[in-house]
Amino acid sequence: MRKELQTYPMMAGTVVDYVIARTLQSYRVDGEVKSKLANVGRRWFRRSIAEGERIADQVRVRPRTYQERKSSPFSPSHDHFHGIDRGSDHLQGLEDRVAFCLDTFENSSVFEKLQSVGPENWGPITTLEDGVPTFGLEEIMVYAAFDLWLIDEGDIVILDWKSGHPSPAAIEGAEQQLSVYALWAQSTMENVSGVVTQAIWLNESGEYAPIPISVISVEDVKNRIRMETAKEASLLTLIESEDGNGRHVARREDYPAHPKTMRCCDCKYQMICPEGTMATAHMRPAQETLAAALIFGNQRERVATEFVTKEWPHTFDRIILQSNPCVI
Ligand code: SF4
Repeated sequence: MRKELQTYPMMAGTVVDYVIARTLQSYRVDGEVKSKLANVGRRWFRRSIAEGERIADQVRVRPRTYQERKSSPFSPSHDHFHGIDRGSDHLQGLEDRVAFCLDTFENSSVFEKLQSVGPENWGPITTLEDGVPTFGLEEIMVYAAFDLWLIDEGDIVILDWKSGHPSPAAIEGAEQQLSVYALWAQSTMENVSGVVTQAIWLNESGEYAPIPISVISVEDVKNRIRMETAKEASLLTLIESEDGNGRHVARREDYPAHPKTMRCCDCKYQMICPEGTMATAHMRPAQETLAAALIFGNQRERVATEFVTKEWPHTFDRIILQSNPCVI
């Protein structure tokens, strides 16, 4: 359940991706170029917040079914779920960012390029309802969650929309992502002469300027995937559970907590992590903390299981010992 929660910046990014995907699908179907995407984005963002808060209230009572998740493009609000209030300026700033990014896309040379090569040269447009493309690296299944590809003069160009700020850390993260996407293309695409990629920082510019991925960075990312997978495997133990399914568990001391207020604020596990609860307590009313503690206190076993199926490295922080349920 916690994996579903979306912070408002994540929602803003999702809305940008979603509006662009719908715009391109519409162009592919009837050749119509939609305009005023900024206004569309503002409406979708406000709707995402309202729906996200409604769904967050719902999932406090019970998790959504698979069908409920598949049939809605909206995700439960992380902040509403955790009772965090960051003020209306935070939301207004994000709404403006959504509008700016979509306006940039609408007037970008990337969009021009997509129109000039034609939809017959685009790869599948990833939408919220689609699964994520995968490929195998030896025995390891790797996800490649890019947004779109196109064929340009024989090369495959993989594009990834970015709605955040291109900080040095964000650029480094994006470069690693692009290397994984290049690996996906090398593993699965035929009849292409080269692989080029581009993270498009819509907050800054929509200029079409893809660059080739170097052999070195692809090899580097292969090695990182191998090393991180091996390290993770070495720290987890598979145990049989009563329902006959295996569970991976880890030792608590292997993952010490590193609480920092803003990081804990965005962490999906803050309410079941003593350090996270302490680090974020001043961001919400006391009764919210107590209510959440009671809800999760009754679900310790399930919470402990969720912990070991996490996908963020730092959420490993709070994985619980085999015999040690989550302590609130
Ligand atoms: S798991 Fe780490 S980041 Fe998350 S709340 Fe706990 S200390 Fe903070």
